[in-house]
Amino acid sequence: MWSISHKAGIGRVLVAAQDISADTVVIVDTALVETPDGFPVCLGCLASLSSLSIPCPGCGWRVCGGECARAEQHQEECRIFRERKIVPTINYVHYFLPHGLYLVVQVLRVLLVTRNREKRDMVENLMDHWEERSTDNGVEEMVKYVAAFCRHKLGLEWVTKENVCHAYGVIKTNAVGWINPGGSRQCYLYPQVSLLSHSCAPNMEILEKPDRTVQMGSSRDIKKGEQLTWSYCDFLISKHSIQTKLRNVWKFDCKCSRCLDQTEFGLHYSSLKCTCGGYLSQRTSSQAVKCDNCEDVWRVEDYSEEEAGLAREVSQAADSDIATLFEKLSGHQHLHPTHYVLVMLYMRLLQPGSDQPPALPLSSECGTALLQVLGSLAGEGSQLYKRYQLCCTR
Ligand SMILES: [Zn+2]
Ligand SMILES: [Zn+2]
Ligand SMILES: [Zn+2]
Ligand SMILES: [Zn+2]
Repeated sequence: MWSISHKAGIGRVLVAAQDISADTVVIVDTALVETPDGFPVCLGCLASLSSLSIPCPGCGWRVCGGECARAEQHQEECRIFRERKIVPTINYVHYFLPHGLYLVVQVLRVLLVTRNREKRDMVENLMDHWEERSTDNGVEEMVKYVAAFCRHKLGLEWVTKENVCHAYGVIKTNAVGWINPGGSRQCYLYPQVSLLSHSCAPNMEILEKPDRTVQMGSSRDIKKGEQLTWSYCDFLISKHSIQTKLRNVWKFDCKCSRCLDQTEFGLHYSSLKCTCGGYLSQRTSSQAVKCDNCEDVWRVEDYSEEEAGLAREVSQAADSDIATLFEKLSGHQHLHPTHYVLVMLYMRLLQPGSDQPPALPLSSECGTALLQVLGSLAGEGSQLYKRYQLCCTR
């Protein structure tokens, strides 16, 4: 259904080898490696630790039980930790806080996978963006520490700082993360999914919680030859927040169709409404935007904090306050029906999956606006669209 192609400036990408209709399973991928992500988790299944976790009989690190202790992905590190007597001293209060030794396990698992010739090539060929990452002193220090730890504490003399830089960079650039209930994290490195480019209005989505295998489906109709994309982060936040996140974590400037279109497909999703009724959607510099109607110029710093404050208010409001907040914000002079703050609010109002009817009947304008946004940004074949479509018509 897809093939690997080369794109100048990007490298390997996946493209549709045929027309693909929305809601088709396109990729089924198996993880090269599955790892903790800096938080204590069971080293067998990567679930959060709990009061029921036990020390692994082999190495003493916490696991859910015997079956997790015997999990294949834990065996080699289990032997290394046992021989070198390395075990984190943690108890219940540490279970949901970052822990350096679990970062070591993350890198170590990638390093151990590269001992296998076939898998080594797959890891070698993935991008690490190390040049950009190394400009962060904290990252540089951490990598030095992990390399020294592997060599001196774990006795793995074959490990070099370069190996560790690549392993760390590959995970940060390509792995698919998941946050467990309670906040601990796990991540998976998939060979095919790693080749999917990012888009802020993607045509693919993950169909269920990532695990040893993952399924990706088309969230809209895709034409033969079109590049397959998914979103590396939540794409229902403002375009500028996504771009900042992509720059900081994945080290690139997004040039997807949404980012290149100042109107964001006519939704003006990330732009406030001007007093004249036009949209402040024309960036004239990183510091200023111009109204597309009266050509008034606003300085970004004059409104961005208030706008971010409104978004925070929506995401942090208690369920019982959402209806009141809706009354207040739907009359806001600079918000419009397809602005992201209101869209976040519609989504909170509706809460699909709850047995309760919506807190407020959605006026048809809100319902239309929400589905228009989800159809454009997530795709009419996406799970998100279908979920909210059900809510809007009931
Ligand atoms: Zn487990
Ligand atoms: Zn063990
Ligand atoms: Zn983009
Ligand atoms: Zn104006």
